[in-house]
Amino acid sequence: MSADTSPKKAKTEESEGPCPYKVVVLDIEGTTTSISFVHDVLFPYVKNSVYEFLVEHWGSPELEQKIEALRAQAKIDVEAKVEGAEEILPTTAPALDIIKSVAHCIRWQMSIDRKIGPLKSFQGFVWREAYQGGKVQGHVYNDVEPALERWIRRGCSVYIYSSGSVEAQKLLFGYSEKGDMLKYFKGHFDTAIGLKVEKESYSKIAAEIGEDPQSILFVSDNVKEIRAALLAGFKTAITDRPGNAPIEPAPSKHPRSARIVSVQLEDTSVPVVKTFDAIFDREAEYRPSEDHQA
Ligand SMILES: [Mg+2]
Repeated sequence: MSADTSPKKAKTEESEGPCPYKVVVLDIEGTTTSISFVHDVLFPYVKNSVYEFLVEHWGSPELEQKIEALRAQAKIDVEAKVEGAEEILPTTAPALDIIKSVAHCIRWQMSIDRKIGPLKSFQGFVWREAYQGGKVQGHVYNDVEPALERWIRRGCSVYIYSSGSVEAQKLLFGYSEKGDMLKYFKGHFDTAIGLKVEKESYSKIAAEIGEDPQSILFVSDNVKEIRAALLAGFKTAITDRPGNAPIEPAPSKHPRSARIVSVQLEDTSVPVVKTFDAIFDREAEYRPSEDHQA
């Protein structure tokens, strides 16, 4: 699989110059990984297996802790008269009745797409067991791993910045369809550093990495995130993967190359790429989002 001794490979390496950026920061959903994996695999997995999961792990201290957090949240929701909220049965109730009420609570919260801590924490527990048990493998597009290898070989460091927790990121890449990919990443950021649509988050990431924002490339499918990164001084590229939402504003021809599609954001033409191959391979023509309008 990795017998990299072909003459073709050697030639490619020879022709590769140093990496045009010191750091690449990658989004996950819609960038390295299909949005469908998250919505059609990960989330349904929790909904479909929550009851069996609770039965199987019943009595474990970790599960008890997570149920306690869910119970406290359910109480708050009922008191706040959140539509559809129901309390979780107390610990004195029969086990199977508690399990049914927890499962109901999880499915209800997921049906309204909640993102609160106790739910995320419970989902994280279920996903960890699923990944570690081989029931789920993280989806990663085919062009990602070769690009990571190429970038790192050229002296670039790669980080992840996703709204999924660092733990969830590590599971996705640690148990990916391509095997354990964690070796490629120098670090992980999640919303603990700030929201992905806020400029400050990117400034903090640059400070934490210890590099000038101008030498960092941020790659994401989300135009709001790209704009925030641009405002913090990052270079950027937008990914257009199958199944992603349409890019707004609509991409048009890059002002400096008819072969490149780009989106005009702030004063910058941000290139739109369908695969990671296109990110550095067009270096001769342009550097992503560098050419400001006069
Ligand atoms: Mg994304």
